[in-house]
Amino acid sequence: MDLGIKGLRVLITAGASGIGLKAVEAFLREGAKVHTCDVDKEALAALKKAHATVTQSVCDVADRAQVAALFKDALAALGGLDCLVNNAGIAGPTGPVHEINPEDWDRCLDVTLTSQFNCTRLAVEHLKQSQNPSIINLSSAAGKFGFPNRSPYAAAKWGVIGFTKTLAMELGQYGIRANAILPGPVDGDRIRRVFQAKAQVAGTSMQAIQDATLGNASIKSLVPPENLADMMVYLASPRARTLSGQAISIDSDVQGLV
Ligand code: NAD
Repeated sequence: MDLGIKGLRVLITAGASGIGLKAVEAFLREGAKVHTCDVDKEALAALKKAHATVTQSVCDVADRAQVAALFKDALAALGGLDCLVNNAGIAGPTGPVHEINPEDWDRCLDVTLTSQFNCTRLAVEHLKQSQNPSIINLSSAAGKFGFPNRSPYAAAKWGVIGFTKTLAMELGQYGIRANAILPGPVDGDRIRRVFQAKAQVAGTSMQAIQDATLGNASIKSLVPPENLADMMVYLASPRARTLSGQAISIDSDVQGLV
């Protein structure tokens, strides 16, 4: 299926590895022009080797001065903006709320939620000039369930849903669509780190945490990151022109988080 996004100008945050990298590759396959950023310089160098056409910036999206520099780079490289993918997010601390270090709470909210504001506020003026503008925000299954021992992450990801639905209502008048994707446990290094941290707090094994997580899911497998990237390219395409304000789960139909 030709999605009709050849030449689409896309900015993807945290695209040097994980889900962001799969998104970069999916947009490239569809002929889009991609700029990305990351805090990990080594991963960015590897991305440069693998995909020389992807322009990039070193940027911590929680830092507004760095985000301003990112937008300068991205707009110079892309010549405008049609799609912003707010992908960056960190797992944050694992533990009961009364044991969470306040600095860890702040950092999780800053990177996972406030970063989306930092980028979106600078994107809107440019998206208004696009023929097919959209914003895609990464939330999580933790944005629709409680998530014991992960309160800052759950708070941030529920926040992403409220932010996204509000963007859709405010920006629809300019033709700008805003949607959130809620991944469940995604196959990759990050989920192994998350299961490990949970296992430590619960005094059990990593496998026990994975089994418990998928025990109540309709599909008993971790989510391939490519499934998320496929949804992003569809959401950014003109085929999704009336799709806005949605919180779309791609999570093996998990019925809760442990
Ligand atoms: P990841 O931990 O694999 O990290 C991806 C990239 O983000 C890395 O290259 C890292 O260097 C970069 N990064 C971290 N902090 C940054 C910052 N402050 N500024 C810029 N870049 C930064 O993450 P992932 O698993 O690819 O997750 C991507 C998004 O999907 C996140 O918002 C995450 O919360 C969400 N998500 C992931 C899962 C999962 O199971 N992996 C599940 C639900 C939601």
